[in-house]
Amino acid sequence: MNTQVDRIRRSNHLSLLSTGLALLIAFILLMVHQYVVGRSLMLEELHTEAAIIGANSTAALAFNDAKAAQETINAVRLTPRITGGALYRADGGQLASLSDTGWSFPEHLSIAREDGTRKLYEVPAETRYGMFDGVLREDIQVEGTRVGTLLLHVSFSWLYWRMFEYAVGVLGIATVALALAYRLTSGLRRRMVRAEEQLEQLAFYDPVTGLANRRLFERELRQAVARTARERTGSALLFVDVDDFKKVNDSLGHAVGDQALKMIGERMMAVLRAGDVVARLGGDEFAVILYGIGDPESAARVARLMIEAIADPLPTQPTPSHVGLSIGVLLLPADDNDPTVLLRRADMAMYVAKTHGKNCFHFFSEDIDARVRNELQLEAGLRQALFEGGGGLWVAYQPQLSALTHQLVGVEALARWQRDDGSQVTPGEFIPVAEQTGLISELGDWVLSQVCRDLAILRASGFELPKVSVNVSSRQLLRGSSLVDHFCETIGRFGESFGRFEFELTESALMEEGGAAVLEAFHKAGFSLSIDDFGTGYSSLGYLKRFQVSEIKIDQSFVCDLPEDGESAAIITAVIQMSHALNLTVVAEGVETQAQAEFLRACGCDVLQGYLLGRPMPPAQLMLYLEELSAPR
Ligand code: C2E
Ligand code: CA
Ligand code: CA
Repeated sequence: MNTQVDRIRRSNHLSLLSTGLALLIAFILLMVHQYVVGRSLMLEELHTEAAIIGANSTAALAFNDAKAAQETINAVRLTPRITGGALYRADGGQLASLSDTGWSFPEHLSIAREDGTRKLYEVPAETRYGMFDGVLREDIQVEGTRVGTLLLHVSFSWLYWRMFEYAVGVLGIATVALALAYRLTSGLRRRMVRAEEQLEQLAFYDPVTGLANRRLFERELRQAVARTARERTGSALLFVDVDDFKKVNDSLGHAVGDQALKMIGERMMAVLRAGDVVARLGGDEFAVILYGIGDPESAARVARLMIEAIADPLPTQPTPSHVGLSIGVLLLPADDNDPTVLLRRADMAMYVAKTHGKNCFHFFSEDIDARVRNELQLEAGLRQALFEGGGGLWVAYQPQLSALTHQLVGVEALARWQRDDGSQVTPGEFIPVAEQTGLISELGDWVLSQVCRDLAILRASGFELPKVSVNVSSRQLLRGSSLVDHFCETIGRFGESFGRFEFELTESALMEEGGAAVLEAFHKAGFSLSIDDFGTGYSSLGYLKRFQVSEIKIDQSFVCDLPEDGESAAIITAVIQMSHALNLTVVAEGVETQAQAEFLRACGCDVLQGYLLGRPMPPAQLMLYLEELSAPR
């Protein structure tokens, strides 16, 4: 802040100096001009005056009347610029003279040279002016004949005095003008510097917390990397994400959310050292540079202190907020100096801390790096597959059979991806990547189109599927009801009937903000809804009723231990009973053994799906499967 004040002061001084200099030059030019004009005007006046005195002296000259001549000469006293005068006859002899300053006029005007009829006189032969005084010569003529000469001694002190007065006046005005200009411009400048400061604040600081923003942080990080290399003292980069911050925003509103972020920033600052840097990168993400960190233990200690600092509830109104911190720690120096890369690594470590149950810290390691690199590769590959003609992607269909009649009630469409090198990537690998990167939206669209194409192929071969279940990720629901519009448009384009499509959503979708509206749109469009992986999430039957769900799928984890595991058996029995009471169809997933199938059938489970009944398979294989299924036993 002090440097800003200095800057204002320095710039004010500079502008004052330059204005003063400009005024000084203007002043000098003005004075020169004033001198030249004043002097020539004065001389002009003096010549006029000399002519008048000369004219008044003609009679005295004609009669050689020294007394009259003296009287005429005495009249010069009336003019302050004339300090003396002398009148000479035509022969050069002095008739009368007067001198107030002691300047002595010559007794005779001496003859310079003979020039025919006229005699010319010297001393002074002509009007001569010095710096401070001068002699003005006026030849007195009567009808073209010189009858005498008048010499006047003139003083310029009057001119200088006038100029001095003028200069004082001008300088006075200039000083006042300069003072006024200084006041005005310094005010303006102060405002400009303040505006500059505000711009800088906007460009480099986060308005909510007052901390550095990402831009400034990346710059600081670059400097930290250089300093760490130069001084050989380690440092640490911390990527901090606030756990459950969404809850604060959702329950107390964004204004309180902002206050909470500010408090979090302040609490973090409180446990750091003076030279350390804290920034808000955006949303609920912060980053910290710790200087002078020689070993992982020191970094861990600070990370722990930060977590403890946030442990006490934040005093937000009307209710306090409980949040935690997930921190990724990266020790510097690292093998890369790019701030973006370093931040991403710390971010990766933070991500691992999050998956380890939040409110903890995790160090970046090569394993994490390898994992994230793999994910980046997957993303690039998936992007290529999706946007360059769907290469390598296909859809597998897994039959769903009636537990009672063993007839096909539908199939579940499952995405498959074979890479260019022939290797299969499992959905367990690529679906989470697609969800994280947002590619799930494009993937979901592609799967639905492909299902429509496959249905047409199956129909051409005489197979009409009663129902197809398509998985929809919670992330896709973020598109709102436009997702449903898009699905309707796709299905309509292929001429398929809407009633044949069922969409599988996880329980979390029911709880998502805005999820309700999308589910309503699905229902209105005539699609049936199924709740996938039931039992692993909120398991709220109340929600199922509210959202007009028609089917639940009991998660494999309950089926796999059947029938031995009493707990699973009890849960399944209860879920089936409650679902039936709510008029919901129950599908059991992951049925691998005859014993499991028997148990489920006995419990009243409606539909079975699993390796026992058929693995997910390509359309061509599905045709053979369907043929076999319908063949009489
Ligand atoms: P999910 O929706 O629960 O799909 C059932 C998974 O269980 C499938 O795995 C299927 O191959 C597997 N499975 C079926 N029967 C058995 C069995 O008897 N034993 C065992 N151990 N597993 C069985 P898959 O195909 O690897 O898919 C995994 C997950 O990927 C799916 O779980 C689903 O959540 C997601 N997924 C797959 N395709 C898509 C898709 O097109 N869109 C979206 N959003 N998610 C998809
Ligand atoms: Ca599913
Ligand atoms: Ca499932």
